[in-house]
Amino acid sequence: MNPYATHLIDQLAAASEDAVHKLHRLGEHAGEPITYRVSPWITAQVADLGVRLLTRRVRHCEHVDLAAPTVMLAAAWRPGRLWCGPCLVAEGERMRGTAEDQTCDVCQTVVEVVHPVTVAAGPVLFHFGACEGCFDRETALPRATS
Ligand SMILES: [Zn+2]
Ligand SMILES: [Zn+2]
Repeated sequence: MNPYATHLIDQLAAASEDAVHKLHRLGEHAGEPITYRVSPWITAQVADLGVRLLTRRVRHCEHVDLAAPTVMLAAAWRPGRLWCGPCLVAEGERMRGTAEDQTCDVCQTVVEVVHPVTVAAGPVLFHFGACEGCFDRETALPRATS
């Protein structure tokens, strides 16, 4: 294997570890439970992102450098996009209060309460919002009561 590939793999491994740490901090901060169980729907979303990365059909904010991977964020409502933390927050602000904000990413139903879910997939933290039924099916976690 060439030295560049070895270096990249080391960096990916470190970024993946960092993503898991960030997920745990997020869980503690938000009081949200963490799961290691991943549903077929989540797996399909992550696989789709992987295919887009391999075929270079991913767009990303200016702070993401695919040649030097650190933790990156992805969201189900913007397939094929990667962000740093502040840019994803800004993206979330833009859609706040819109119908999109109230749409379950799994079944595409507009609902009153969308439960946020974050999944660590390698160096990527994948975010999606789920209605009650989809949340139960995809995560098998207790819902936050707030
Ligand atoms: Zn950014
Ligand atoms: Zn749903």
